Amino acid sequence: MKLIDGRAVAEELKNSMKQDVQEYKKKSGRVPHLAAILVGNNPASKAYVANKVKSCDQVGFNSTIIKLDEDVAEEFLLSEIEKLNNDPDIDGFIVQLPLPKHIDEVKVTLAIDFKKDVDGFHPVNFGRMAQGLPCYLPATPYGITLLLERYNIETAGKHVVVVGRSNIVGTPISILLSRKSKMGDATVTLTHSRTKNLQRILMQADIIIAAIGIPGFIKEDMVRQGAVVIDVGINRIEEDNIEKSSRLVGDVDFETVKEKCSFITPVPGGVGPMTVMGLMMNTLKSAMKEVYK
Ligand code: NAP
Repeated sequence: MKLIDGRAVAEELKNSMKQDVQEYKKKSGRVPHLAAILVGNNPASKAYVANKVKSCDQVGFNSTIIKLDEDVAEEFLLSEIEKLNNDPDIDGFIVQLPLPKHIDEVKVTLAIDFKKDVDGFHPVNFGRMAQGLPCYLPATPYGITLLLERYNIETAGKHVVVVGRSNIVGTPISILLSRKSKMGDATVTLTHSRTKNLQRILMQADIIIAAIGIPGFIKEDMVRQGAVVIDVGINRIEEDNIEKSSRLVGDVDFETVKEKCSFITPVPGGVGPMTVMGLMMNTLKSAMKEVYK
């Protein structure tokens, strides 16, 4: 079994991106700028945004966080989005999910100018991705394809089984890997909670991508000997000890599954750091006007 080290790959990419950013600054006289809107006090969301800001510092981007109260009115959030849409200094921005229940996530996603949608969630980018047109790829699927490429994991002709069909991970990665393209050409089965005989389907997979949100869901008896396992899940488990500490685990039962597979991503340190890189790469593309003029 070989561990897919997302942290190390992200560091490599940051180092090469630093040079691209330097060159861009020299040529254009400006600095790429990523903004994030953070609503409320969700500790995981705060940590994700802090990580993104840290990565911006590391590669030489400017970054801005706009913090809004948990009970912010939807109208106010939409007006902040509009300001970022119209700010020529901002190359791209994200609205960190999940949002409080009183806010309509679809409305928020649609309000973001697709030319600044560096998370790749807007239907324009999603549709362009499906048709193989220039777009911002959704950050997590983008990160997964970069990892597969870095470890020379062939996807052409392989059977990929994706578990979970969210708009941000499962559905887009299934489209990306089945496209006629580099890091595509796979035969993909997209599974979900209504799938029958999931174990039998998983046992036919050359590559498994787990994006379910259930700790340790993928067990050893669901994985074929030699399969590649990409664990997208991030689940916080509260420890039953005096400190009441917690730890992160994936959707894969890592300790048993690792014995059977050829490659596996750990949690943390696998897909997570690559999601941030997907976002950074989209932001640089936006600054360089590589996708939209
Ligand atoms: P999600 O919106 O939470 O949806 C979960 C998906 O899993 C749904 O499609 C659901 O099926 C499916 N599912 C639930 N129970 C199942 C079962 N018993 N058998 C088969 N499928 C089942 O998905 P998400 O937003 O993609 O999040 C999934 C996990 O990835 C979470 O742990 C999240 O924190 C993590 N995540 C990590 C990153 C990263 O950067 N590493 C990024 C995004 C998300 P139905 O559609 O039928 O309900």
